[in-house]
Order: sequence, then structure tokens, then C-alpha cells
Amino acid sequence: MDISNKEIEEIVRKVVANMSGDEQDAQPATVATGVVINGKTYHGVFNDMNEAIEAAYQAQRKLRDLSFEEREKFITVARRLIMEEAEEMAKLGVSETGMGRVEHKILKHRYVAMKTPGTEDLVTEAISGDKGLMLLEMAPYGVIGAMTPSTNPSETVLCNSIGMIAGGNTVVFNPHPNALMTSLYAVDLINRAAIEAGLPQNMCCAVAKPTMETSDIMVKHPYIKMLCCTGGPGVVKAMLSSGKKAIGAGAGNPPVIVDETADIAKAGKDIIDGCTFDNNLPCIAEKEVFALEAIADELIHHMIQAGAYLISREQMLELEKVVLVDGKNGKKTINKKWVGRDAKLILKQIGINVGDEIRCVLCEAQEMDHFVQIELMMPILAVVRVPDVDTAIKMAVKAEHGNRHTAHMHSKNIDNLSKFAREVETTIFVKNAPSYAGIGVGGEGHCTFTIAGPTGEGLTSARSFTRKRRCVMVDSFRIV
Ligand code: NAD
Repeated sequence: MDISNKEIEEIVRKVVANMSGDEQDAQPATVATGVVINGKTYHGVFNDMNEAIEAAYQAQRKLRDLSFEEREKFITVARRLIMEEAEEMAKLGVSETGMGRVEHKILKHRYVAMKTPGTEDLVTEAISGDKGLMLLEMAPYGVIGAMTPSTNPSETVLCNSIGMIAGGNTVVFNPHPNALMTSLYAVDLINRAAIEAGLPQNMCCAVAKPTMETSDIMVKHPYIKMLCCTGGPGVVKAMLSSGKKAIGAGAGNPPVIVDETADIAKAGKDIIDGCTFDNNLPCIAEKEVFALEAIADELIHHMIQAGAYLISREQMLELEKVVLVDGKNGKKTINKKWVGRDAKLILKQIGINVGDEIRCVLCEAQEMDHFVQIELMMPILAVVRVPDVDTAIKMAVKAEHGNRHTAHMHSKNIDNLSKFAREVETTIFVKNAPSYAGIGVGGEGHCTFTIAGPTGEGLTSARSFTRKRRCVMVDSFRIV
């Protein structure tokens, strides 16, 4: 899809301008239904975190009295609005964060609209026996406090909101400051859907200026009964130490193994398609490859055919200096400036000029090289040659760092596939397809942008945001 820079600039000017210097004295004014930023009312958005929580609390008290049918009516409108406004949110996300690709973000929003489960995800269990009837129902937590990433900002807000509201909860977001306007757009969309469906407003709220302080208020507030955190290791650890029920969806570094039984041409293309999706921003995207020596040359050939540009080891070391910086404890970490950028721009930094057809920077690496071990979130892919599948599995498990997030394998040998799946223990394991098949894009299963490995909910949906409540009736309510 062709989207001109001019169109993008137009949207930024209209919606994101308030983030820039000239707008800084224009403080958003609180109105009954949200804040006004740059002439636009953002429903559900508040200047004060305590007010946002209070509003979400009041909305939850109304929501719990509504029928599933009414919740579904809202979800249907939300799905329609997401489809209609997917392009606008995609352009806004790219312009505000400078990361990712518009055409892929459009697709991500469409999948959120089409494949995020609603109330059908809530299933009541019943047991009847000599002693009567037992019902186990999925009940709301109440108000959920959620943190969202800069990598899938509006997608996460929308997907979380549908699932949480389907489960009978309301939600307050403390969005990533680097993707604020994109996130607030999504919060407003959810509120517009509620208004159109005749449901209470403020089922989805956010704070206009999220900071660590507002996050702290959210975490400690007595009305917040559950936390849901989608982001890197720092924020997940902070939420899991809160003493509250928390869903933690953390970092990954998904390895790919390709053995000699795979369809190598397809594997090469699938890996590049997955690795370059939204410029490698998704946490599930292919981050490093372990290829059996016997097929490595052929695989690299097909990756190049699919749009990868192979650089030498010297060039790789030069690129490390661009995209990595010194982090804490003397360890290298990513230079955020290059996260989610186009391969073409990244290559330019080391003096290589290529056209738009190049979508991935490919290099051969050793197991302990930074490009293998660090979660880059850039369209840079390291390939490590390995003598056999057991070595590949050992190295891949190590590179995944125990995140138990996502892994991929291209193989037709079911023993190899099973062995790697068992050893790596990831929440998502994709066989013979691009990584995005794991979240329902071109694969079976529902879509989510909150994949909770550390806390075990897996690919979250409405049921993840519920608590089980039992009701028993003794000696009655049986029909046999
Ligand atoms: P990030 O960790 O920089 O930020 C996430 C949110 O947490 C932001 O709102 C940020 O302001 C806040 N935050 C950061 N540290 C905090 C702390 N100590 N206390 C309170 N709040 C804090 O995330 P990002 O860079 O936008 O996203 C990228 C990371 O998120 C990657 O590691 C990626 O793998 C991961 N991710 C995981 C999933 C998943 O479903 N498992 C989905 C998307 C992204």
C-alpha cells in the first residue's frame, strides 16, 4: 500500500502536534467526557490518574449490571470502528514513534478487529451430582490497571480493552509516553464505540500525561484489582512485585531453527516475511536463526531472494556500534533510535545504499555475538551455522534466555520439531510458517498483542481477565 509522507505529515499535524514544543503551553482542559487536546476531545482521557481510576470504577459498577448481549453490542461497534480507522491509527503510530511500517500496522489493527475474542470466550462450567449443582463462572476483577508498549501501542490498547470489557471489567491505561497520542486515539475510539452502542462511558480510561508517578498511583490504588503489563523486563518485574494479581507479558528473543528436512526456499521466505513484519517490532518476530550447515548456504540464498541484504562480519561489527550502546553493568543494549527502523536506513549508517526492495539486514554470526543474544527489534537477522539439530536446539534455548516466549522451526522431521518444542518451553511455537501465524495472522487461533509467558495466561483473551467464582445449590436444581 502506498502512503505518501505528505499524508502522514497531515495526520501528524492534525493529531500529534500537541506533542511538539509550540503546543506545550496548551494544557489539555478537563471536560466532562475527557480532555481536549488540540481541539479534539479524547473521551476517557483524564489529566489526573486518580480521576481516571474513579471514572473507570463508576463505569464498572454500571457495566456489571449490563447483559452479555449489551457488551457484545459494544464490541461489534468497536470492531467496525477499528476496521474503519485502522489506516489512520497505523499512520499515526509510525509518525509518532518513527517505528514500524504503515501497511503492516494496518494489518495488525484489522486482525485485532477480526480475531480478538469477545464474550464467547467466557465459558461457565457446571457439575451436577447426588449433592445438587455446582456452577463455576468467570467473573470480572473490577478495574484493571494496564501498561502498554511503544511497539504495538494502539493495537494493545484496543485488544486489551475488548478482552477486559468482554470480561466485565473496566480499564485504566498508563500508556507508553513515546506512543502517547496513538494510545489515546485508541482509548477515545473505545469510548466512541461505547457511546454509539449506548453503554457507559469511561469503561476504558487513560491519563493524559503518563509518568512513573502516575504508574505508581495506578499500581497502589485500592480500586485497581488487577494489573496487566505488556512491555520489557523492567516494567514486567515492577508490576509483578506489586503484591497485586498481575498479568505479565514480557520480552522475547525468538530463535528459529532450520534443519535439512525443511522446504528451504519456503523457510527462507517465511523467515524474512516474519522478521520484517512491522520492521521486527512484534515480540514474537524471528530474532536469530540456527541453520544446519548442510542447508545454510541454500537458506541464505533464498533469504537474499526474499529481500535480505547480506553483510560481512566486518560490516556486522561496524553496525553493532550503530545500533547498540553500553547499558547497565557494562552490558550492551539496544540503541532505541534504531528500533523498528527500515533496513535501508540502518544499512545507510555503514555506508551501504540500497533500494526499497531490501527489507532485512542479514549477517552470519557466532553463537555469542550480540546480534544473536540481544532482542534487537530491528530488521537485522543473524544466522548461525550449526553441525546438527541437537546443537541448534541447545544454542536456541540459550538465546531464548528462559523467556519462554516464542520459538520457530522449519522442519519436516516430527521428532526434531517435538524435541525443540519440549526443550524451549515457549508460549508460542510456530512450525513451518512466518512468526505472525502464531498470533492468528495466516494461522489458526485468536489474535492478541499481550502474550503472557511469565504469568502463564499465554495468548490473553477475555477469560484471562476474569476470576473464577463457584456457586453451589445443594440437593436441588437437577433435572435427573
Ligand atoms: P518498555 O518496557 O520500554 O515500556 C512498557 C511500559 O512500561 C511503558 O508504558 C513504560 O513507560 C513503562 N515502564 C517502563 N519501565 C517501568 C517501570 N520500572 N515501572 C513502571 N513503568 C515502567 O516497552 P517497549 O520498549 O515499548 O516495548 C518493547 C518490549 O516489550 C520488548 O521487550 C518486547 O518484547 C516487549 N513486548 C512484549 C509483548 C508480549 O506480549 N509479551 C508485547 C509487546 C512488547
